[in-house]
Amino acid sequence: MTNIKVLIESLSNKQSEALDRIQSCNNLNDLRQIRSKYFGKESEISKILSNIRDIKDDSEKKQIGEYSNKLKNILEIEISKQENILKNIEINKDLDKSIDISLEKYTNNIGSLHPITQMIDKIVEVFGYFGFSVASGPEIETDWFCFQALNLNINHPARDMQDTFYIKENHILPRTHTSSVQIRTMLKEKPPIRIIAPGRVYRNENQDQRHTFMFYQYEGLVIDKTTNISDLKSILTTALRNIFDNSDIELRLRHSYFPYTEPSFEIDATCMLCLGKGCNVCSNKGWLELLGGGMVHPQVLRNVDIDPNIYQGFAFGGGPERLLMVKNMIEDTRLFYENDLKFLSQFRKI
Ligand SMILES: [Zn+2]
Repeated sequence: MTNIKVLIESLSNKQSEALDRIQSCNNLNDLRQIRSKYFGKESEISKILSNIRDIKDDSEKKQIGEYSNKLKNILEIEISKQENILKNIEINKDLDKSIDISLEKYTNNIGSLHPITQMIDKIVEVFGYFGFSVASGPEIETDWFCFQALNLNINHPARDMQDTFYIKENHILPRTHTSSVQIRTMLKEKPPIRIIAPGRVYRNENQDQRHTFMFYQYEGLVIDKTTNISDLKSILTTALRNIFDNSDIELRLRHSYFPYTEPSFEIDATCMLCLGKGCNVCSNKGWLELLGGGMVHPQVLRNVDIDPNIYQGFAFGGGPERLLMVKNMIEDTRLFYENDLKFLSQFRKI
């Protein structure tokens, strides 16, 4: 006859043994084996419980049944707790293996304006202080607006300085300079005129450190009755001092030739790095060439029905890229167009 006390004692011993094994188990395979050892058909607990049928007393049968169910529940809970612990350990081990310390820290990257756009905004802002309004025009121009109205007739040799992608039909072309905007403005508006015209222009250039087939220009135009070279120099000096945030900058006008201005000048600014003493950046000249300009040619005024006996004006133009390159000591203009975020993010405004 099976003694219930012996059965319960055997089950209790198995419970302590199983709990010890489950809690000290350190891998999922072993845990699976422990589960089958204590719960499988051939398990030790099953063998003990198979003796229940020999118990005649129903209340004792019930008692041992309840005890064995409780034991099963305790062990199941313990196995599932240990299973979770071991699974988490394995997941963390996999994560440790997959960490790539060369990866950059993830940050929320916020976009910013392109440095050329930022410089154009600055130019517009600074010339705005002098009452210049922004003017714009089409990038595809006719020969007349781009050349003839600016005193560059069909066979003018100076056209070679601005070789572009020319479409013979209809005499249209990508504009080579933003000067065409000056013509369009003078035809549309009566003097006094005071505009700044930034925009893209196109030339047939070999791509190198200083040339790209597309680049930006900003051009200014002032037409009034008493406008003179002194005004040109003084406005540009103040504007460049503001753009470069350097009050020591002076300007130097060197005689040059442009078909649409007379007299014409190359306009140099004091080298901001050596303040005129001479350095590598300015090739020891102490000056940096930044713009071109001059007094508007009387023939250009006549072409747009402005009487040069009453009005005169000056015009100037340069490249925002050139200002950025000088300001930030950048040697290759192509960097602005390669969309390399490592380069562009240096100009991010915070
Ligand atoms: Zn210098």
